[in-house]
Amino acid sequence: MSIQTVNPNTNKVVKSFDEMSDKAVDAAVAQAESAYTEWRKTSYEQRAVLLHKVASLMREKKEQLATLITLEMGKLFAQAEGEVILSADILDYYATNAKKFLGDKHLNPEHGKAFIRHSPIGVLFGVEPWNFPLYQVARFAAPNIMIGNTILVKHASIVPQCGIAIEDLFKEAGAPAGLYTNLLISGRRASALVADDRIKGVSLTGSEEAGASIAAEAGKHLKKSVLELGGSDAFIILEDADIDKAVEWAVVGRLNNNGECCVAAKRFIAVEAIADEFLAKFKDKLSAIIVGDPMDPKTELGPLSSEAAAVQIEGQVNKAVAEGATVVLGGKRPERPGAFMNPTILTDIKPGMAVYHEELFGPVASFYRVKDEQAAIKLANDSPFGLGGAVFTKDVKRGEHVADQIDTGMVFINHPTWTQADLPFGGTKRSGYGRELSELGIDEFVNKKLIRTS
Ligand code: NDP
Repeated sequence: MSIQTVNPNTNKVVKSFDEMSDKAVDAAVAQAESAYTEWRKTSYEQRAVLLHKVASLMREKKEQLATLITLEMGKLFAQAEGEVILSADILDYYATNAKKFLGDKHLNPEHGKAFIRHSPIGVLFGVEPWNFPLYQVARFAAPNIMIGNTILVKHASIVPQCGIAIEDLFKEAGAPAGLYTNLLISGRRASALVADDRIKGVSLTGSEEAGASIAAEAGKHLKKSVLELGGSDAFIILEDADIDKAVEWAVVGRLNNNGECCVAAKRFIAVEAIADEFLAKFKDKLSAIIVGDPMDPKTELGPLSSEAAAVQIEGQVNKAVAEGATVVLGGKRPERPGAFMNPTILTDIKPGMAVYHEELFGPVASFYRVKDEQAAIKLANDSPFGLGGAVFTKDVKRGEHVADQIDTGMVFINHPTWTQADLPFGGTKRSGYGRELSELGIDEFVNKKLIRTS
């Protein structure tokens, strides 16, 4: 049984689901296509009414949805509640702003008159991950529903109840059948579905492997794709940083969502002058973290999303040590049931070791000491990933100058990389391509049609 709710706090199976048959998937795609022919004719105002309604249902059911998120993937309950509110905000944001973003754009050509009209393109397919079960879906579905596209979502196999709950919200809000459909299928079948002629574009958030598989299929069938993949964000601490503030944000940046964020701070790069002070204070804070049940409000670090994820990260730490890295803190899983990993700091990491190049999706921080600002930038850029990053300095202009030289899609000054409805999100290099959220996120699956009159 591959589609299951397994509580990572206990590793006990809670509920199993049968995959949809090929026939049922075919019927769902047909229904999404048929819904598109009507949905594309609706006004922005009609679409906005629906999304506002879904957003208000999310807020009403905050506790219920947050409980489901925590049950299925182990996020701290308070953070799960925060995710529900953020997702509702994203729906409201696009409901309120889509018309402004998608209005006709008048051009000034040398001859004649012309404008760009934004039109929908059809049925879209979203392949979504478990780490933010509501937010990831909201940032894909909201802009596209406002454009007039219809949506099929294949959610991660470990969060089936979250996937079903989102579809139920749309149904309860009065969405026409086929506007938003949850597909209970495996990742392998997801790639094959991209070939279906009725699907016009695909968006995936997840691993490089899954992204490459989806993008290859999309390329073969000449379809647009958007990929939001992994990251290994640098968190640079310069000598003029407020160290206590940097340490506080370092803890949040690494441990938020139990360390399972694509934009988590993963590589901590401190310049020599303050490296010892930063490391000592960072270690102190991480040593005091309370690991435990994610439903308990006292807990500061819950389990990873699955036993497999915990085994993987412990394996990465063990391999790093075998290759010469030093464990400054943690390094082991706690003696208790569940998919837990203790907060960990690794140092003495060198190019060529696997951990230097890989993403650490969990509460494991890599710490690097460098000579100066230029060395910090060089190390930050020596990564296959290009998602986010952070620079800590009291001189904001200096921070912006450093940010300019970092090859990623996002850099924050004096804050870990973060997300909100009105800021674009996305990366470069092996972190993927395209953008989600803000005005940029509504621009991906839209036909910018030129209309010229003489
Ligand atoms: P996956 O990439 O396997 O899962 C993400 C989504 O892709 C799921 O819906 C999954 O379905 C689907 N999928 C998996 N394989 C394929 C495929 N060949 N074709 C199409 N879709 C596919 O992530 P994992 O859960 O395995 O996590 C592994 C790593 O991925 C993490 O350690 C992290 O590095 C990265 N990751 C990054 C995320 C981000 O936010 N950028 C989020 C999650 C993971 P199914 O669940 O059925 O396999």
